[in-house]
Amino acid sequence: METRVANLDGRTIVETAIQDFKTALRGPLLRPGTPEYEDARRIWNANIEKHPALIAKCTGIADIVHAVNFARDNDLLVSIKGGGHSIPGLGLCDGGLTIDLSNLKGVRVDPTGKTARAGTGVTWGEYDHETQFYGLASTGGEISTTGISGLTLGGGNGWLNGMFGTSCDNLIGADVVTADGTFHSVNQDQEEDLFWGLRGGGGNFGVVSSLKYKIHPVGKVLGGFVGWHLHMTKEVMEFLEGFVQDLPDEVGKIGVEVIASREGVPMVIIRPGYFGPIDEGQKLLAPIQKLGQPRYDNLRPMSYEALQSSRDPYWPWGRHNYFKSGFVKALTDDVIETFVAHTRNVPSQHSQIAVEYYHGAYSRVKPDETAYPHRLTGWNLAIGGSWLDASESEKNISWVRAFWDDIEPFTSGGVYVNFMSAGEDDRVKVAYGRNYDRLVSVKNRYDPTNLFKVNENIKPSDSPKK
Ligand SMILES: Cc1cc2nc3c(=O)[nH]c(=O)nc-3n(C[C@H](O)[C@H](O)[C@H](O)COP(=O)(O)OP(=O)(O)OC[C@H]3O[C@@H](n4cnc5c(N)ncnc54)[C@H](O)[C@@H]3O)c2cc1C
Repeated sequence: METRVANLDGRTIVETAIQDFKTALRGPLLRPGTPEYEDARRIWNANIEKHPALIAKCTGIADIVHAVNFARDNDLLVSIKGGGHSIPGLGLCDGGLTIDLSNLKGVRVDPTGKTARAGTGVTWGEYDHETQFYGLASTGGEISTTGISGLTLGGGNGWLNGMFGTSCDNLIGADVVTADGTFHSVNQDQEEDLFWGLRGGGGNFGVVSSLKYKIHPVGKVLGGFVGWHLHMTKEVMEFLEGFVQDLPDEVGKIGVEVIASREGVPMVIIRPGYFGPIDEGQKLLAPIQKLGQPRYDNLRPMSYEALQSSRDPYWPWGRHNYFKSGFVKALTDDVIETFVAHTRNVPSQHSQIAVEYYHGAYSRVKPDETAYPHRLTGWNLAIGGSWLDASESEKNISWVRAFWDDIEPFTSGGVYVNFMSAGEDDRVKVAYGRNYDRLVSVKNRYDPTNLFKVNENIKPSDSPKK
């Protein structure tokens, strides 16, 4: 006996329609009660529990078109799952249909033309592995298990921000199935509006099946971190605010972070990524190593792939997580004092609180050039609460919120759409910033009934109530 599938009005979808849909697919259609379903339902954040009625594991564009048509014709809630790394678990929905793209694993690198096209089930670790085979890379997220698709469609910040801008700045084409079930291959010259919207507007406009990126030569890099006892936090932050003035693009990104426990000891760390000649980088970064008496220093030359996976152990799948985030213009006394006060009493040793500096090529793109609007040189703060057991959720979420309440007055008001948690609907407009109105007009054109609403949602002007 299969479980009931209901549409947004609670009306049951007849079993024969579901069986016809299943037959039309090349990939499996999963339903509750099987290990395959439970595996497909697994996402990075264990704090989010959702149970789709159906999960379509698509094998290509034909499956995606069938899934979109089935969801639309039957008025189902629909979610799109790329890498499953979204903090609020937006890859899944409760009831309805999840369009799971994790089987779309192809990466084709053109080393001569310096482009790469990848399926939207690819993770950054997989993408980097293929492009680095040719000594090439595009800006990508710094956890290798994150999906390329959710990250790029929301903007995408990474170690290469300073050199090559965001992931969406590196995007030169996308294949997408829109709400009416039609296929579009878009780029700067074809359906420019839709292409613009995909570079920061998230999953609002359709199901993206592949992404085409520019790729750049990237060889050995300088990475790792220098760490101090927690009582050095103020001094380390003050130092870094001075250090980042006149930073060359080759320091692709640099951040200060409190890691609640490293081998049992909380630390404040500075972690840079340097992409120029190694000896020049060592000279440039030496003042960091000379600050106070570091307890830990593993700054060293490494491969780009090693840098791109070096943070993985800190953010494994399956823990409970809750984030608050926002942009900060400068590490002022107010910001530093608040940061220091709240990082003294982190309730979980798995939590991490970071401020990362974005500059260089990132800031040379105009705010309306892509849908991703945040282009000021400055800091991105992420208060990352992370804990092991659901019984500790209340304590940890309260700590993140209290920290945020105190520091919010010193932030610029903007937030990166991919660093939002569940329940932040009131911040969605701010996340899209000055580009919101144009995004609404793209939404009106490509998804006027808001079929794709399980995301940081851009509501069409005449959005139906459901
Ligand atoms: C530990 C951690 C580290 C992170 N580090 C970074 C970082 O370094 N840089 C950065 O920029 N971000 C980072 N992020 C945020 C990351 O960008 C988002 O979590 C992103 O949504 C993950 O993409 P995904 O495909 O894995 O997500 P999913 O959970 O699969 O999808 C999230 C949403 O993206 C949309 N989506 C995904 N795929 C498609 C598609 N093919 N077509 C249409 N819509 C789609 C959908 O709306 C979906 O609901 C980090 C997140 C975490 C939890």
